[in-house]
Amino acid sequence: VPMKRQLTQTMRKKMPEDLFQLLTMIGKTAAQINMSAYLIGGMVRDLLLEHSNEDMDIVVEGDGITLAAKLQEIYGGQIRTHHEFRTATWKHPAGFKIDLTSARTEYYDFPAALPKVELSTIKEDLYRRDFTINAMGICISPDEFGDLLDYFHGYEDLNQGRIRTLYNLSFVEDPTRILRAIRFESRFQFEMDEQTADLAIQSANNLMSVSKSRQAAELSRMFYEENPLASFERMRDLGITSFILKSKVSNQLIIKRIKAMNGFKNLFDEVQKPFESHIWLGYVMMFYKDVLEESHHIEGYASRKYERKLFYDVLRLIPLVTNIRSDYSISDLHVQFAGSTDEAISVSCSHLLSEHTEMVKNYLNRRASISFELTGQDLIREGYTPSPDFKKMLFDAACQQLEYPESTKDELIQHIQSQENKE
Ligand code: ATP
Repeated sequence: VPMKRQLTQTMRKKMPEDLFQLLTMIGKTAAQINMSAYLIGGMVRDLLLEHSNEDMDIVVEGDGITLAAKLQEIYGGQIRTHHEFRTATWKHPAGFKIDLTSARTEYYDFPAALPKVELSTIKEDLYRRDFTINAMGICISPDEFGDLLDYFHGYEDLNQGRIRTLYNLSFVEDPTRILRAIRFESRFQFEMDEQTADLAIQSANNLMSVSKSRQAAELSRMFYEENPLASFERMRDLGITSFILKSKVSNQLIIKRIKAMNGFKNLFDEVQKPFESHIWLGYVMMFYKDVLEESHHIEGYASRKYERKLFYDVLRLIPLVTNIRSDYSISDLHVQFAGSTDEAISVSCSHLLSEHTEMVKNYLNRRASISFELTGQDLIREGYTPSPDFKKMLFDAACQQLEYPESTKDELIQHIQSQENKE
């Protein structure tokens, strides 16, 4: 029997006050309608690790939708319900998003069918989760408030830095958990225990039957974490890269490319314009020999608007990056790259391991550090009549400013006038 742990003091000390109050109040409201409520999953793990986390997952023994309706009745806000899963999301008036689910047993009639839902106990709900460190709960009902529910030794695993599945068929049942394990390993610098790592290796081939969109859901999170290189190296060591992304390039090449990406990532972190989250798709591209030739493999991973945009931008930029010459000036680069995102340019250079990477970085660094001074309004103030020529004039001014970042507005206008006189 695991040790009983009481976490009220930890919650009081480590959680933001408003979050703590909200949990207390949800527990009380549940009790009024004879339900027990538990905080579960990532927030429990992160509380014990003293990491911040704002995703509140509550499981109730009873009906999550009924509780959500009651909370809304008393405290306002909005709810969205999913009747087939007996779950609800409550948007609290202060902006918190709280997922309320019914402790449940899912079973599948056919692989493609939606889960039918039976109400069941919290222990069974926790048993369905991926790893012991994610399978803890904290009771928030008034009677037992703060009691840690830890049926699977998650607390100990958390202290030991261990990622462990709850049962041996876990990775067979859901192979995407292998990717999740790797992600948590590199995020927390944890490690799978020997048995879990063995199970991951044995079940890795099951990743081949996972749809691209489900792969994408996990890859996107893995490659948006702090250290994509560590995740890749772990994938390689477990021998799973060939089952996902069907990589045809050597691990050394992938590593070189990811390191090149890291160079760009550092640059943008330094100027406080970090990569947007769709950058994960750029990492996926590093696994392909030639993204132009193999674009049909990659396209299936790009389903959201910004992912598709990154994908097509990179395809368009690859030939441009290939043709960069050593004598290009910053404004020559701007002519090539003005309309392209930091992400797309970084991915293209890294994929090609371009010998002009330092030049491009220098350009991107300038571009990111400058705020472009001149606007159409300034030109009008100078007596110019609005016309399609404005675009070119402002572009010239931007190039000038990239070359001479200290330029004042007046100097930029003088530059435009001198360009006009030339023509
Ligand atoms: P993050 O901090 O990255 O959001 P998280 O642990 O909150 O991590 P989510 O993917 O948001 O991760 O999932 C919430 C909870 O749902 C997890 O803590 C885990 O217990 C459970 N879960 C998510 N995906 C799976 C899965 N494939 N199999 C089993 N349980 C899962």
